[in-house]
Amino acid sequence: MNLKRISGLLMASLLLISAAAFSVRAQNGYSRDASQPADDEYTKKIREYTTETFFNSPLTDYLPASPNVPTPKAVLGDVAGAPGKLPYAEDVYRYMRMLEKASPRVKVFSIGTTEEGREMIAVAIASETLLARMEENRARLTKLGDPRMINFDEAEADRLVAQSFPIYYITGTIHSPETGAPTALMELAYRLTVDESPYIKSIRDNMVTLITPVVEVDGRNRMVDVYNWHLAHPNENWPPLLYWGHYVAHDNNRDAMGLSLKLTRNIIKVYLDWKPIVLHDLHESVPYLYDNTIGDGPYNAWVDPILTDEWQMIGWKNVSEMTKFGMPGVFAHGTFDTWSPGYLMFIAATHNGISRLYETFGNGGADTQVRTLSPDEYSRTWYRQNPPLPRAKWSQRNNNNYEQTALLISLDYFNKNSKLFLKNFYLKAKRSIEKPKNEGPAAYVFPGDDPRPGNQATLLRVLQGQGCEIHRANAPFTVTVKKKKSDRGNGKPASANAPSSTPSASPSPAAKASETEMRTFPAGSYIVRMDQPYSRIADALLDYQYWSPKDPQQDVYDDTGWTFGELGNVQVTRVTDVKVLSAAMERVNGEVRSPGGVNGSGTIYIVNHNADNNLITLRYRLRKATFEAAEEPFEAAGRKFNRGSFIIRNASAVELKQAASELGLQALAVNQPPAIKAHAIKVPRVAILHTWLSTQDEGWWRLAFDQMQVPFDYISTQDVAKDADLNRKYDVIIFGPVDRGINAIIQGLPMYGNAIPWKKTDLTPNLGGFASTDDIRPGLGWSGIANLQNFVKRGGVFIGTMDTADLAVSTGFTPGVSIQRSQRLKAIGDVLKTKFVDSTSPIAYGYGDSLSIYCFNGPIFNISNVAGGGGRRRPSTDRPTGRGTLEDPDVVQGRPPGEMPEPLPNSEVWEAAPISEEQRRNLVGLIPPALRPRVVLRYADARELLVSGLLDGGDEIAQHPAVIDSPLERGHVVLFSNNPMWRGQTAGSYFLVFNAILNWDNLNAGRKLDEK
Ligand SMILES: [Zn+2]
Repeated sequence: MNLKRISGLLMASLLLISAAAFSVRAQNGYSRDASQPADDEYTKKIREYTTETFFNSPLTDYLPASPNVPTPKAVLGDVAGAPGKLPYAEDVYRYMRMLEKASPRVKVFSIGTTEEGREMIAVAIASETLLARMEENRARLTKLGDPRMINFDEAEADRLVAQSFPIYYITGTIHSPETGAPTALMELAYRLTVDESPYIKSIRDNMVTLITPVVEVDGRNRMVDVYNWHLAHPNENWPPLLYWGHYVAHDNNRDAMGLSLKLTRNIIKVYLDWKPIVLHDLHESVPYLYDNTIGDGPYNAWVDPILTDEWQMIGWKNVSEMTKFGMPGVFAHGTFDTWSPGYLMFIAATHNGISRLYETFGNGGADTQVRTLSPDEYSRTWYRQNPPLPRAKWSQRNNNNYEQTALLISLDYFNKNSKLFLKNFYLKAKRSIEKPKNEGPAAYVFPGDDPRPGNQATLLRVLQGQGCEIHRANAPFTVTVKKKKSDRGNGKPASANAPSSTPSASPSPAAKASETEMRTFPAGSYIVRMDQPYSRIADALLDYQYWSPKDPQQDVYDDTGWTFGELGNVQVTRVTDVKVLSAAMERVNGEVRSPGGVNGSGTIYIVNHNADNNLITLRYRLRKATFEAAEEPFEAAGRKFNRGSFIIRNASAVELKQAASELGLQALAVNQPPAIKAHAIKVPRVAILHTWLSTQDEGWWRLAFDQMQVPFDYISTQDVAKDADLNRKYDVIIFGPVDRGINAIIQGLPMYGNAIPWKKTDLTPNLGGFASTDDIRPGLGWSGIANLQNFVKRGGVFIGTMDTADLAVSTGFTPGVSIQRSQRLKAIGDVLKTKFVDSTSPIAYGYGDSLSIYCFNGPIFNISNVAGGGGRRRPSTDRPTGRGTLEDPDVVQGRPPGEMPEPLPNSEVWEAAPISEEQRRNLVGLIPPALRPRVVLRYADARELLVSGLLDGGDEIAQHPAVIDSPLERGHVVLFSNNPMWRGQTAGSYFLVFNAILNWDNLNAGRKLDEK
């Protein structure tokens, strides 16, 4: 069918729909105030920019007039959603503050700043009476949110529900290329302020709408720059939005667990302070409106079932009302599992509120365009009986119509049922507090003798950021805990994917006595009690996750495992025994900090290496002091020190004392250095390398470095391509994952068409800054490969991860290392167990025998002692057909038996296969012993590999190397199969990288060489 014919049909039905819609409006209780005039000029523009009448609703196809309150036009120069208009965050704020000035129904709050210092705001809209009563209402909501404060008195709860008014919090444009929300929210704010329609008046009089119009402010302003560049160069290709926030792009919506980004910290603070019941985040992707909270399974296992029912109630109400308005393409079920709690909206889900999320349809800017959909987008399905049109002209105004209509329907429905939702808010809080006596556990205990008190404190501060209360034991206490698997004898043989391979993966409330034991925790242990209102978030973060490979959901949306204790390398015990709650303890006031300071006397200081991340901060802070790393464990003043421990000389006593106490590190002052072999720890010069293809994944690395105050230069593949003497500037070059494949890293973007700049100009004031180029297209190129390789050969260290490890392996940096392409492996953002193979390697300093790491499908490394040797062959255990039993040799008849060669020793999967004398003859590729790859860390055996998440085909990667130190002439290449710096969640593996940096010129320490 041609477009003209479709348009004809559509036109014929327009008048009908339009007329019908008004009666639907009245029927459904959305009637207008007949005495309030419309702003005719603005209304005319709304209609002009809406591409089909049915892409609007009677709720938003007009704008009410107000004699004194300015419309969005005052700032935009046109209506919200107008083509070609994309306001900067500051313009949006200017408008919100104009509203505040013009009306007592609006209050604007500054809620913090971004990484680059831009402001974030929240706008509260309600009647003047309600806004005046915000503080007393906050006191009531606080009590409803913490039933301990009213002794669980149901009558009092009902009284509070009756007196309280709820807050509905809407957040816009966290994802910067999803551009529609700010203008939709400007106009929505206006409507809520001035519209006298009875249903809007009722919303205003009975609840507060709270709006953060721009969540990712740094990214929004860059997106507006990019769009303006596009408008100024209409016939050219424009830059993709390389940097959204300062560190990450799309992943800014995966930070609700780790709370590493300022935007998440600012929003959760508002959430915890104001106690809104709903947190509703606006996104754009699929046509035309996907109320995606209902989504699909598996649902997060730690949220209250009351919440998942609320998702259904509000979501389907949205679909139903918009269907009645005749708006196509509105649906609620779809391909998005609600397993991970990392999404911004999930702050509400894990804190007794209601999370909501819309995906509306956007054009990535404000151009009006004909959009052609794919069959899976326009097909009619059971959950989408009125699907989007296969082809339609689509405008930003259409997007704004859908967003506002859906929000108004939600606000109206929420308002009409506000007492129900307030009571549910109370019930969910109460059930969170009742966790110990219902589903459990009773508490999580962080033992007072954890060898890594710094990392322990870091994790506890994340929980504090989540609003959790932390307690500390005053005395030792003894409780029943689940036995560690290794202590439970020979249980059933576990399969590669069984949850039983994890120590406390699936605790059964009725655990048999034989599976439990008594355990005494020392005084000073931290206790996260589950009888507190925010127990669910602590439980969700600290528990283990299991996703069955046979789950009906095969299209996994995000990471499947995140267990924070494991990834933080922090000991955490899940305790179901309610006796733990009566241990002598007191509430921790203020942030949890590990105790630091100096003991002993002398001018030499010793600091134990326990892989606490603050150790690297100490090194960089005391730049002028002399640091050495001990190559063996030792004792001093009766205390044990691990391999890698720092021996510090020439330090100012005052500075060292201050640093140790601030960083929570214990230093021992002595007069005599320990008699132990040690090497210098200099202050290495570090570069973090990025492409112009994608910067997000390396962004998490920059964030980790900035958090630990490790200075670095930020350089691009284009810089490396041009610099033939990188050693002049750097000791270590780090190339975080790119996730675009090695060909793209080398080639860059195709050089057709125009140059694509990323830099600061008058037209684009927010681009450039910390990274800029005249043309993003050229890649690393072959000169870049050669420059990097020469950098290593002359003594530098190159660190590659996942696809950048693949780059190093595939372009000849690592003779002896190869990558096995996986056939079956499905490790979708998992926590996996690894084992240290060579704890004398400096990369292993401070660690124990094993470590849980984050893995996303490898790569699977193999090593060989022969350059280009490829994968290892497993020795055959079969014997050929012949005389005797299985163990006997065959015998040739009619001659004496010949001399049998010594069988080659068996080698492990993570080891290089031994080379026979026969193979050794004239073996050109035989790598000299000192240059052979050294495996530091390997994946655990298949049976104990999975810690958390979804793992299928795990035997393919089990036992293979995870971290390899591969020498190349005078330098080293360090390869990671895991991602050690990911989403602020993997603090436990940061020090693998930090060790490689600190020991960059002594990575061969402790190395045992093969004889031949
Ligand atoms: Zn999005």
